[in-house]
Amino acid sequence: MSTATEGDADVAIVGAGPVGLLLALLLGRRGWRVEVLERQAAAFGRPRAVHLDHEAARILQNAGLMDDLAPRTEVMDSYLWRNADGTPLLWLDGTPEVPATSGWPASTMFHQPDLERLLAEAVGRQPGVRVRTGHDVQSVMPGEGDGSLSVQADGPGGARAQVRARWVVGCDGADSRVRALAGLDVTDLHYQAEWLIVDVVPAEPARWSPLNIQVCDPARPTTAVSGGPGRRRFEFMRLPGDPPDGFGSAATAWRLLEPWGLTPANAVLERHALYTFGARLVDRWRHGRLLVAGDAAHQMPPFAGQGLCSGLRDAASLAWRLDLVLAGRAPDSLLDSYGAERGAQVRAEIDFSVELGKIICVLDPAAAAARDRDFAPIAEAGPAPLPGRPPLGTGLLRPGDPQAGQLALQARVGPPGAARRLDDVTGGGWVLLGSLADPAGDLPAELARWWAGIGGRCFPLTPDGALQDSTGAYGRWFAAAERDTVLIRPDSYLFGAAAGTGAATALVDALHTALTGADLETADPEAERRDVW
Ligand SMILES: Cc1cc2nc3c(=O)[nH]c(=O)nc-3n(C[C@H](O)[C@H](O)[C@H](O)COP(=O)(O)OP(=O)(O)OC[C@H]3O[C@@H](n4cnc5c(N)ncnc54)[C@H](O)[C@@H]3O)c2cc1C
Repeated sequence: MSTATEGDADVAIVGAGPVGLLLALLLGRRGWRVEVLERQAAAFGRPRAVHLDHEAARILQNAGLMDDLAPRTEVMDSYLWRNADGTPLLWLDGTPEVPATSGWPASTMFHQPDLERLLAEAVGRQPGVRVRTGHDVQSVMPGEGDGSLSVQADGPGGARAQVRARWVVGCDGADSRVRALAGLDVTDLHYQAEWLIVDVVPAEPARWSPLNIQVCDPARPTTAVSGGPGRRRFEFMRLPGDPPDGFGSAATAWRLLEPWGLTPANAVLERHALYTFGARLVDRWRHGRLLVAGDAAHQMPPFAGQGLCSGLRDAASLAWRLDLVLAGRAPDSLLDSYGAERGAQVRAEIDFSVELGKIICVLDPAAAAARDRDFAPIAEAGPAPLPGRPPLGTGLLRPGDPQAGQLALQARVGPPGAARRLDDVTGGGWVLLGSLADPAGDLPAELARWWAGIGGRCFPLTPDGALQDSTGAYGRWFAAAERDTVLIRPDSYLFGAAAGTGAATALVDALHTALTGADLETADPEAERRDVW
């Protein structure tokens, strides 16, 4: 073993998948020193996710990536579920002409390596972030009494690397070593199915209509969706009668593609791989200075297209918390609210994905016929909207506030014809947005200083100028909530909403109490039993 290479970081991130890279980018943009250790020689390349929801798109917008990613996406307008005969069971309408709450189409199709490349490039532009590929993390040990941790990795050529960090985040995927080292238990929901995933590039790209199709055929449940512009993604369920060998072969892929009119003569088989989908969730997301995010914390079947979206939300949720804790502006118990909020929401995503799987993966013809009869009235009722997002769990939210935990609206603001998305105008982060007056005028000097210290800024919607509510969207939103001021967190959730004189003060004061109070409501009851981590 050759000499160790040393590194010093505020945060060490294990795994340079999309979640690890996004977290590194968000922390790097806030000025923190980040070391990312990645086992593979190249940091990106496996096409898995193809679906991005509006909230994930907003997170990527705030990370500075959507200008480059959006032209490489295909907006989902229609998603048809049909049975073996082609009879519709369910139409889902992407309503592409109406942006969702986050200011992006509800549902967008993309190619995961495009996102990973953009993330890697953006991370590469951060002076404080170093990504070391070819580094397989073996252990994490307590540091030398200074509260830091020491991460050991096997590097290229047998070199041993060592990174000292104040916090370690395992973004190391489904088989997470960090999760195991931290002793974080996982609840397995015992849903499992094996599917052949096939990506093809037709020689003559055409937009499919409907764009996305779910074939609920007991003879072969199949997903046929966009894989981003110019690509099609097929997913074929493995059946009990399939031969034990060869199901994952290119020959099988072509055989199953043939009914779709795709052959080696008119398409390129870009990738084919067998995946066993599971449904698992960590019971706790943190053990002392070790945390997990992304697939390291949760796995779900891909039927709702939420695995990566959830991981991106983890990174957004964790980044601002680590930022405050590293800056000494909040106690480390703030990080317990990360798992409390994320766990409840992710559990709902997993349950929903499993329910979809139970509808799609019916293999008994009689049960499939019964399912089809149940769905007939739903299909007859016409296109249905996409389901809404499940709520966050209890966390860093204004107590007793019905708006707290909702996504802040991102509409366009500014002069008609030149209006831009809200976060592009405000710059995101901690934002007080007032519909009637400048919330800054409301804040007592000391609270205003504290607010500015965490990077908080105040914006009034105005009858003209950059924050002009030219579409009236904010007027309607504030009126429906019967509030005139909202406090938006850096992950775009509302900390709270208030109305009348003193609204901004009430919101910032509640945030100050929540962040600086000794006992955060969500503090981990096991904290006292923590060991050296
Ligand atoms: C077929 C399929 C379709 C999917 N479709 C969708 C979809 O449409 N929408 C959606 O939102 N999600 C989807 N998902 C889920 C999505 O792809 C994953 O949730 C996402 O890629 C997870 O990202 P991650 O960064 O958490 O983990 P990963 O991408 O798995 O990255 C983990 C990284 O950690 C590295 N690593 C592991 N151990 C170590 C170690 N000891 N030391 C150093 N590095 C290590 C690995 O090499 C890897 O690069 C799909 C998944 C599959 C399989």
